[in-house]
Amino acid sequence: MLKEGLKIVLSGPSGSGKGTIVKELIKNETFVLSVSATTRMPRQGEEEGIHYFFKTKDEFCEMIKGEQLLEYAVFCDNYYGTPKSFIDECVENGKDVILEIEVQGAAQVKAIYPEAIFIFVIPPSLAELQNRLVGRNTETGDVIKKRLERAKEELYLYKEYDYVIINDNIVRAADYIEKIVCAEKLKSSRFEQAIETMLNYQGGY
Ligand code: ADP
Ligand code: 5GP
Repeated sequence: MLKEGLKIVLSGPSGSGKGTIVKELIKNETFVLSVSATTRMPRQGEEEGIHYFFKTKDEFCEMIKGEQLLEYAVFCDNYYGTPKSFIDECVENGKDVILEIEVQGAAQVKAIYPEAIFIFVIPPSLAELQNRLVGRNTETGDVIKKRLERAKEELYLYKEYDYVIINDNIVRAADYIEKIVCAEKLKSSRFEQAIETMLNYQGGY
């Protein structure tokens, strides 16, 4: 069986609950979150290197030029991108790395790593999405409006993903993702090497 960890791409409209689900998932130590770089301003309580690497636009452009990013995209007027080095390190160490990224970035990852698992998180309804964004109280009304408009554009892309999770309950949503990852690890295609070793066994019996 392959010892490499999996790459799990989690997308979905802003406010659907991706961050909250990730927090639940990483209680299990096999999962790690890929910390993205962004030009967005930190929200209250967000810490450098834990929630994001906060960059100026110039710094972000330097990362692009230096080919330090696996993917990047502009989302509602800010740049967001995944640093390459951390992903490679995690996968080599057998960790399942979660990339919590929007749809354009997910498409770039799919082109590079088609074997990654693509999961789309949706809210139970758009009214609930709005309630969650308003209730989170981290964005201005204008930004919430932009994010809700963008949500519809993102929802069109659900078929690009392997799985859809309706986040009506955090614990259940995280549990479904753990089960998906478990099933993916048991796919026959991951057992080629293990079976070959058995077939080459020349026991002394
Ligand atoms: P995202 O990371 O997708 O933008 P968040 O994880 O920040 O979304 O969640 C948006 C808001 O909705 C947060 O205030 C969070 O506490 C709340 N939330 C997330 N999941 C649920 C859920 N299943 N039921 C009720 N509220 C939720
Ligand atoms: P937020 O500002 O709410 O933290 O994130 C806004 C959107 O950017 C979310 O959909 C989030 O998943 C996405 N995002 C966060 N990091 C990255 C990244 O590294 N790359 C891409 N493409 N999107 C990201």
